[in-house]
Amino acid sequence: MKLNAYLLPLMAALLLAACANETPDEPPVEDPPIVDPDPEEPQPDDPEPEEPEPEEPLPDDNFLMDDEGRVFSYVPAGDLLPASGPGHADTTIYQPDIVFPLEDAAFLNSQVYRYGGSQGSLNGMNGGQCHADNYNYPWQDTFCESRSRSQIMCPDGGHEGVDIRAATCIPDSGAEHWAVAVDNGRIVGLEGSKYTVKLQTDDGSLYRYMHLKMDELAVNDGDLVVKGQRIGKVSNDFFNSSGERVPTTYHMHFEMYQNYAPDEESEPIFDQVNPYMSLVNAYEKKLRAK
Ligand SMILES: [Zn+2]
Repeated sequence: MKLNAYLLPLMAALLLAACANETPDEPPVEDPPIVDPDPEEPQPDDPEPEEPEPEEPLPDDNFLMDDEGRVFSYVPAGDLLPASGPGHADTTIYQPDIVFPLEDAAFLNSQVYRYGGSQGSLNGMNGGQCHADNYNYPWQDTFCESRSRSQIMCPDGGHEGVDIRAATCIPDSGAEHWAVAVDNGRIVGLEGSKYTVKLQTDDGSLYRYMHLKMDELAVNDGDLVVKGQRIGKVSNDFFNSSGERVPTTYHMHFEMYQNYAPDEESEPIFDQVNPYMSLVNAYEKKLRAK
């Protein structure tokens, strides 16, 4: 081996040094290499929650501010909280002309993996839903956030909408925050609906607003509504599959469906899309118009 050609003189030199000196230096001993456990194998005993990556808000050249003087920012589409699922990085603004679905300031972020959510501790966010950090920018996408139920749009199942907190945390503030029609259209399918209001627009798009205060809606089934018209108040109405009322956090879940036909002969189908960038666009327009 070639190595010996180098090692032997070195060892000889060390030996000489040892003979010439009563207290020779120890030759350097290399640490044994650390054997890496299978990197694919999760380490179940690790009690440390993963530290959330610092979010990098997108620069906003206009420094758009809301009524409270807070500068609006958002993290990119598909960039979800750690441990909250794969997301779906869809930067398409499907509906550039809609208005934002809430009248006041609003905060898009997770209801499950943040303060007040059942999985908040995974991100070190222990505390109630009214924690101030839930009511601040940057916004964060929650489309395809991990959920136990299977939903076809997201790989391995997930959340097929985005969650929007109102301007203030209602249990603390007692304030009313109104949801409005994002476009001209008709309220449909309200009969028997427990926590969902649907808005069908002229271009065949469908929007679903969930968890509004259902016994105080401002619309009835079949009503024609105009863009910006009040529909209902942000609340926490929710029911489990057995029909029992199980309140969720105070927020509005919002879904967007495009009416899509692959060719002229085919019946159109409702294709659910990520509304995140359409909402960013609508919110920026709203703040610019102030
Ligand atoms: Zn939701």
